[in-house]
Amino acid sequence: MAALTPSRPLAEGADAFTVGTRFHRALGDGRIECTVCPRACRLREGQRGLCFVRARRGDEVVLTSYGRSSGFCVDPVEKKPLAHFLPGTPVLSFGTAGCNLACRFCQNWDISKSRETDTLTSEAEPETLATTAKRLGCKSIAFTYNDPTVFLEYAADCADAARDAGLKAVAVSAGYIRPEARRELYAHMDAANIDLKAFTEEFYRTIAFAASPPASRQSAGLRTVLDTLEYLVHETDVWTEITTLLIPGRNDSDAEIAAECAWIHEHLGPDVPLHFTAFHPDFKMRDVPPTPVATLRRARAIARDTGLRYVYTGNAHDPEGQTTTCADCGEALIVRDRYRIVRYAVSDNGHCSGCGAAVPGIFDGPPGDWGPKRQPIRLPDPSHKRAPAQGPPPAHRPEPSHRP
Ligand code: SF4
Repeated sequence: MAALTPSRPLAEGADAFTVGTRFHRALGDGRIECTVCPRACRLREGQRGLCFVRARRGDEVVLTSYGRSSGFCVDPVEKKPLAHFLPGTPVLSFGTAGCNLACRFCQNWDISKSRETDTLTSEAEPETLATTAKRLGCKSIAFTYNDPTVFLEYAADCADAARDAGLKAVAVSAGYIRPEARRELYAHMDAANIDLKAFTEEFYRTIAFAASPPASRQSAGLRTVLDTLEYLVHETDVWTEITTLLIPGRNDSDAEIAAECAWIHEHLGPDVPLHFTAFHPDFKMRDVPPTPVATLRRARAIARDTGLRYVYTGNAHDPEGQTTTCADCGEALIVRDRYRIVRYAVSDNGHCSGCGAAVPGIFDGPPGDWGPKRQPIRLPDPSHKRAPAQGPPPAHRPEPSHRP
């Protein structure tokens, strides 16, 4: 018997990695609908949802990947990317398996589209994860590599354990989630980076393969993500940043970028940081060239002309696009060389050291000095009674599932 002891009730007759959930409802035809995301999978006994990790077991939909991970790394928090959240500090990052979207350009498709649990080679109780992160000097833990939406019960328990240890919790997500599950997941989070993959429903339907009404029985893909952003910014204290991966010819026109930026400005305000990152060919989109730096700079210029104050470029060498500037006096507050901070002019409580204006975000003392390091780690085996179920460390694991 496994020594892992989830704080959630185990599903009847299941292994220690399968826990019950409350996100499901019975339909009149014998099927049970998962209510986590708009895909609304309707399952008969033994069936799994599109994400693969949630499955019908008796009268409920269970999570089958509780306490299991595809690996752990300590990264700079700038890599999530978060530019206004505890700058320079290390974050313990991990993911599980499965995803509720099916992006043709996914960078972590071996995890997100896994139909095997072979990728889940590490085990971790939430408390072990938190104490390890603390011991390594991390200020936060991040749910990344694949979307925490599909393993929200495990993410919530890990976030609680992190908070108990004095750390913060970060969700890196596509924001494709229904309102009740959204409330549950983000009640446990301190920061989020939400992928706004494009600004057309067509992109979500044909490239990210979001279900569209009536098939989804919920709202469409883009609409759902915009709802998540409005919820996070206006109804929670979760510090929120946005990332758009620009793919040549798919979502990088001036008109689409301008429409996205205008929506952000009108609905979220000018202070929500926006990251434009570069695509590189992968998975089912190898016929599209990498994003030129010029495209990232063009998008950033459009965003700034729209009135957005904190706009960044990523996955490319672009020092100007990676600098945080005071919106009041124009002082260069945080100058970055990729993931290394080379100048820092923000006070310990988050004000411009030149004019004293508040800088939006979460700042707590001096910046960290983690730099660009990426450190794969192994957690203590929870059982000590069996051979550690651990594969090779994820030394070359790319950043979030949809980003290089
Ligand atoms: S999380 Fe979404 S994709 Fe997974 S089973 Fe539930 S509705 Fe389906």
